[in-house]
Amino acid sequence: MSEFKDLLFNVLIVLLPIFLFQSLWAEKSTQWSRSRHRAVISLFSILSLLLVMTVPVRLVPGFLFDLRLVPMVIGILYGGYRGGAVLVAAFFLYRFAIGGVGALYMSLTFPLMFLPAFLLIPYFPRYARRTKVLVAMGLALLELVILVVVALWQMHDQMQIPPLSNPLMPFFLCLTAITLLCLFIAVYLLESTREKEVMRYQMHRNAKWQGIGELTASMAHELRNPLTVVRGFLQLLQRDGVDPQKRETFLKMGIEELDRSESIIRNYLSYAKPQFERMEAVDVCERITHVTGIISPFATLRGVMIDTVCEHNLSTMADPEQLSQVLMNLLKNGIEAMPDGGTVTVRAYKRSRQLIIEIADCGVGMTPDELTKLGNPFFTTKESGTGLGLMVCYQIIHSINGRIDVQSEKGKGTQFTLLLPAL
Ligand code: ADP
Ligand code: MG
Repeated sequence: MSEFKDLLFNVLIVLLPIFLFQSLWAEKSTQWSRSRHRAVISLFSILSLLLVMTVPVRLVPGFLFDLRLVPMVIGILYGGYRGGAVLVAAFFLYRFAIGGVGALYMSLTFPLMFLPAFLLIPYFPRYARRTKVLVAMGLALLELVILVVVALWQMHDQMQIPPLSNPLMPFFLCLTAITLLCLFIAVYLLESTREKEVMRYQMHRNAKWQGIGELTASMAHELRNPLTVVRGFLQLLQRDGVDPQKRETFLKMGIEELDRSESIIRNYLSYAKPQFERMEAVDVCERITHVTGIISPFATLRGVMIDTVCEHNLSTMADPEQLSQVLMNLLKNGIEAMPDGGTVTVRAYKRSRQLIIEIADCGVGMTPDELTKLGNPFFTTKESGTGLGLMVCYQIIHSINGRIDVQSEKGKGTQFTLLLPAL
């Protein structure tokens, strides 16, 4: 019975690193380079491999049984050539250090599995999840069959035990089943985490592009005004005998209008361009001014004023573009909450070691039930809403160790409060 207990302990050792990986790095790992990803998986696999080999099940003198195939297959298929090679080297070195007759058999049988595994490395990342599970289990099964046949034949040779009535048969079957099950769980978990992270990343981008689409419409509208004004001035200047003083004023006003259009476009582009996360000390007031600048055409179009009160020298560690995205989403929601126009108030100040940014509107507000759903993906009460904006806001603020509080009353208005660590 104790061999089954040892086997269960093995299960814990091979699955623990994967759970650890999931809970610690799953979120960050989508931003890792491929080689870093591979290196981390290899490292985990090698550690887990050495650990399972340290606590094996000893049934026949000289032979060790354990779940080594799980970290081996994962380490090679996910770790790539380099990670796989290090893993194989570590395995052989450690196995020979432990010693016993098994070491010799193993050095003959394992290459039979390593070879196809290495050949599959370039194709593996492209397989669908189900194929990946099957490939991993197939490789393990191949090696298990070889190992069991060798063990049965050995015992037949040395102890005259007929292979088919070998008393260890139930154990071998159990070992095979548990190895395959563990591999199934491991590949399944690794793949579903990856898929979930990729989906979340795409949602992030969708939420932004949806916002951009709506802003573009209002921006185009806003640009038309200065262009019409400039056209008017040019027409006036075309006439003969314009008073030089008037001429001067027309030119000055025309240039101002063009500058304004240029700044609308510049702001908009800086919001729309693709961004990569870079943490730095961000001047919060400067961000607020930047974002209110971009969104003001949208606000004007809906008859909403944006009132900003901002203390000086407020800075926090964040990605400036992501912080803009949060402010933009909250302001946009505030503006959209007031179909008949009104004022959105933005206040930023410092209280002890926290930066507080309040964004308040006097719009439609929310019921307690709606409040609890806030930030859930796809929760929206708008006809053309996506319900992704706030989800992304929560995620970004959470990633810089901040918090979002919401107070809202149906029919009265809503206040979003961002609490960020001050620098
Ligand atoms: P979307 O704006 O696309 O609907 P969000 O995630 O930005 O998605 O917002 C989700 C929902 O939260 C909105 O549909 C709305 O019902 C509610 N909400 C968000 N901000 C406000 C606000 N300032 N006032 C009232 N309701 C709001
Ligand atoms: Mg929104």
